[in-house]
Amino acid sequence: PLATLADPGLLKTDALIGGEWVGGNSRFDVTDPATGLKLASVANLGPVDCHNAIVAADKAWGPWRSKTAKERGAVMMKWFHLIHQHADDLARIMTAEQGKPLAEARGEVVYGASFIEWFAEEAKRVYGETIPTTDNNKRYIVIKQPIGVCAAITPWNFPIAMITRKVAPALAAGCSVVIKPAEATPLSALAVAELAQRAGMPAGVLNIITADAEQSIAVGQVLCSSDVVRHLSFTGSTEVGRILARQCAPTVKKISLELGGNAPFIVFDDADLDSAVEGAMVSKYRNAGQTCVCANRFYVQAGVYDSFVEKLAAKSRGIKVGNGFEAGVHQGPLIDDQAVHKVESHVADALGKGARLVAGGQRIGDRFYTPTVLADVTSEMLCAREETFGPVAPVFRFETEAEAIALANNTEFGLASYFYSRDIGRVFRVGEALEYGMVGINTGLISTAEVPFGGVKQSGLGREGAHQGIDDYIEIKYLCLGDI
Ligand code: ADP
Repeated sequence: PLATLADPGLLKTDALIGGEWVGGNSRFDVTDPATGLKLASVANLGPVDCHNAIVAADKAWGPWRSKTAKERGAVMMKWFHLIHQHADDLARIMTAEQGKPLAEARGEVVYGASFIEWFAEEAKRVYGETIPTTDNNKRYIVIKQPIGVCAAITPWNFPIAMITRKVAPALAAGCSVVIKPAEATPLSALAVAELAQRAGMPAGVLNIITADAEQSIAVGQVLCSSDVVRHLSFTGSTEVGRILARQCAPTVKKISLELGGNAPFIVFDDADLDSAVEGAMVSKYRNAGQTCVCANRFYVQAGVYDSFVEKLAAKSRGIKVGNGFEAGVHQGPLIDDQAVHKVESHVADALGKGARLVAGGQRIGDRFYTPTVLADVTSEMLCAREETFGPVAPVFRFETEAEAIALANNTEFGLASYFYSRDIGRVFRVGEALEYGMVGINTGLISTAEVPFGGVKQSGLGREGAHQGIDDYIEIKYLCLGDI
């Protein structure tokens, strides 16, 4: 699938350190999840290379932070435009290594680029402040400065957007970065890095360390233990987030974490049911259910339960599953065999405990799984507690608003949540009661560069996107002027 790129120069397989492409001593394979076929062999770097990248980033940091925000923004805007110009090629690379349908991949390219545009603009608005003095001999001034060398460890489900969402605010603030992309999807990361080079990003400002699963752990240890690296941003599982937080403690590193979710999707009796089903489809099946904001648990009020299940099942059966390069395909493969096993185990567990299979429930080939709707699901089932990360919609029944809120909040996670209601009082009551960083009300789609994305409880720390997204990459400095 990569033989037909308009610009074959985007297919990079070496890592990027200090502006040089580095091949390393060993390689690892990147495969197409749809076919299982090898796509490329990528540089498998380790701790020594990672150390070199940190040194390069440290060296590049001074000149980069000395540029004006407008100058940094100009390089970023060039990068943004190049990504748009090469969107078709980037989408092909992404579909090949990640599996999502081509149209969805293109959507991610545009979404990913939007963070670069947004933060290129925000760079100019990192305002300090003056504080009214309490001593006529003194003046109090607050300035904001870049935190320093930053590290980013990113997942495979959004191979470009999860990188730009971290890197763009870091670069805008005046930081340099070392990125460790997911081992399943390094080609998208490298292609975007190539475009950063073409945009005139100075050597060492943006470095990419590619590594397989084993070396990623070693690279992670170097990034976390380095006292040059002042900030670590991670998106991935809560389990790995805990490990990284622990590893960052000795150097008291600032950390931003976007971890797992267990999103509830509540449909009240007074909802516009067709709209709720539309929202459910978008929220559940995007990226084959492999996003941390995908609805994981559907709570539907008794009065509309049967009809919601029926409508959702009918629409779910209409989704075309297949290779993301084929026209008309809405859902590609899951990322790997392990992902398929998790989906199968959640469905088997639910059926074993009395759930009813209303749609789907089938594996096709190795890694394709049909959109699945389960009815009569209860809190005892695995899918109530764990993120399935696949195209499975378990539908629970509830009677009262209080019950729905309690069920929705009964989890250690708190990333995204959704509910449908036309009652204005209920919209405020439930919106305020849900213990989540994000609440979609009468919509299943909430992500965009201008808003703060992030979770509460064990779903993470910090916010990405929005004007708040730059805060984690900035240190606040207080200047006290005396002797006035
Ligand atoms: P997922 O389960 O979605 O694959 P992970 O949390 O396992 O998510 O992985 C997300 C990212 O974290 C990937 O880039 C992966 O290589 C990296 N990673 C996984 N384990 C570690 C670790 N122990 N140290 C550093 N990075 C890790």
